[in-house]
Amino acid sequence: MDFDYSPRTKQLQARLLAFMDQHIYPNEQAFHQEVDRNGREQGNRWMPTELIERLKPLARDEGLWNLFLPRSSRAPEGLSNLDYAPLCEIMGRVSWAAEVFNCSAPDTGNMETLERYGTEEHKQRWLEPLLRGEIRSAFAMTEPAVASSDATNIETRIERDGEQYVINGRKWWISGAGDPRCQVYITMGKTDFDAPRHAQQSMILVPADTPGLTVLRPLPVFGYDDAPHGHCEMVFENVRVPASNILLGEGRGFEIAQGRLGPGRIHHCMRAIGVAERALELMVQRLTSRIAFGKRLSDQGVWRERIAESRIRIDTARLLTLKAAYMMDTAGNKVAQSEIAMIKVLAPNVAQQVLDWAIQAHGAAGVSDDFPLAYQWAGNRTLRLADGPDEVHRNAIAKLEIARFSSTTS
Ligand SMILES: Cc1cc2nc3c(=O)[nH]c(=O)nc-3n(C[C@H](O)[C@H](O)[C@H](O)COP(=O)(O)OP(=O)(O)OC[C@H]3O[C@@H](n4cnc5c(N)ncnc54)[C@H](O)[C@@H]3O)c2cc1C
Repeated sequence: MDFDYSPRTKQLQARLLAFMDQHIYPNEQAFHQEVDRNGREQGNRWMPTELIERLKPLARDEGLWNLFLPRSSRAPEGLSNLDYAPLCEIMGRVSWAAEVFNCSAPDTGNMETLERYGTEEHKQRWLEPLLRGEIRSAFAMTEPAVASSDATNIETRIERDGEQYVINGRKWWISGAGDPRCQVYITMGKTDFDAPRHAQQSMILVPADTPGLTVLRPLPVFGYDDAPHGHCEMVFENVRVPASNILLGEGRGFEIAQGRLGPGRIHHCMRAIGVAERALELMVQRLTSRIAFGKRLSDQGVWRERIAESRIRIDTARLLTLKAAYMMDTAGNKVAQSEIAMIKVLAPNVAQQVLDWAIQAHGAAGVSDDFPLAYQWAGNRTLRLADGPDEVHRNAIAKLEIARFSSTTS
């Protein structure tokens, strides 16, 4: 078993680390300041930032662009999941960095969906401008009225009317819906309420400017609005789109969701490992630079224990993430479903614990905006819900294990 990264990954890693040092860390606070300034001076926190728009061409020139998309003739620079993992981890160290490299959620999952399941027309209209970083997109599945972790509950109606579909429903927590560049919603709803349980759902492309589609409000995460991205509640009232906007065909929504959520989930985990790694780095820097009760904090046994435990957990999560990425590349997303579910539970929980210790190590400073820890804690906490709560993934892992061992005779 070879634990080394490939030569191409190592080369890109060096380039990405240099880019982070030169352009991302020095601007870490400037991003939030620009959003605040837009709110104060222009009355609008939901404008794209000049900072990110300025950095995008620089990233592109460095070859640090669309690295997430495997096997696409439209993005020849795309890497395998295994090669991308260590790069995505580095991008995750700063909350807004991934967009600079056109590698941010939910666009990456949406681009992969369009690449795999879109027609040539869908690709030309939506995938190409997304790959160029000119527009953004959102994925609209969750609904306020039903327990949406079970997607068979979704109630949005997608009804055929001649050469169109008519969509009615209410969605919430739709990430990216606050961004004025968001031009397309991959929307999940039901085309046939009487079909077998997993054949009722379909996915359809809804242009953001379609009449009847209204973004109602952004939902804050522990008080953070995540502008200019946002997670919004929205309503579809007699929204009409051409019948050709359906992805793959009626009743294929579950199949697409399985294909989309694998890559989306593993990218979140890769970034969560970056968050945890940075939190550990900040924790150690703080503990080695402060003295309490006559000793450096890092000389206290309790902090040594936490530092060691952080390293053990981060490396465990990274190795399992790399294994899941390898299996996705070599055996496919379906075969890798248990590994994807395992890291989707493990990585956010590891990051959450390490962030919590890092906040504790910083004292009151840890909960302020002078350090990235508090904001990252809030963002990371949502990963234990978004793209499936922990319990749902544990349930899926348990089902596979039970099936495996109950079918063997001892
Ligand atoms: C910041 C953020 C961004 C998001 N972005 C998007 C997005 O872009 N698009 C989108 O469609 N959705 C998005 N979501 C929504 C997210 O995917 C859902 O919140 C998630 O799937 C859970 O659905 P729910 O909120 O309806 O919870 P429910 O389904 O009501 O579940 C509530 C709780 O019940 C428990 N539970 C559920 N099933 C089981 C089980 N089998 N066993 C034991 N306990 C269980 C879990 O603890 C779960 O947290 C986002 C959410 C957040 C917080």
